[in-house]
Amino acid sequence: MSEADTPLKAHPPVSPESVEYWERCAAGKLLLQRCRTCGNVQFYPRLLCTACASDELEWLEASGSGVVKSFSIIRRAVSAAYEPDVPYVVALIELAEGPTMMSNVVDCDAEAVRIGLPVQVRFEAISDAISLPVFAPA
Ligand SMILES: [Zn+2]
Repeated sequence: MSEADTPLKAHPPVSPESVEYWERCAAGKLLLQRCRTCGNVQFYPRLLCTACASDELEWLEASGSGVVKSFSIIRRAVSAAYEPDVPYVVALIELAEGPTMMSNVVDCDAEAVRIGLPVQVRFEAISDAISLPVFAPA
């Protein structure tokens, strides 16, 4: 299979609210939003605070630490692009700052993943512009 035939993984949609988020991911930083009005911290990037509807949101650089809240081991690839990855882990990661994000747990045996496992963010570049935050055991 030539490089031109290599199937592509799904790319996330980049909205006006998330441009800064994706730019910082490409630089190896994980951003959350913090409300200047009520202090709520949220993920994913939005126009308004999910707690009080304020539009006074600022970026907060996350520690990248979290724990596995729930997970599933994917054994059948959804498309050819993911076949080299199976089995892989899709997980909900509860970040130290509070929000939960869906991601992958990488760099470990899928069978070793457990609820409560401490993890740390790292970034997987899928294009020049997009790096996905993924998590590895801390
Ligand atoms: Zn708020």
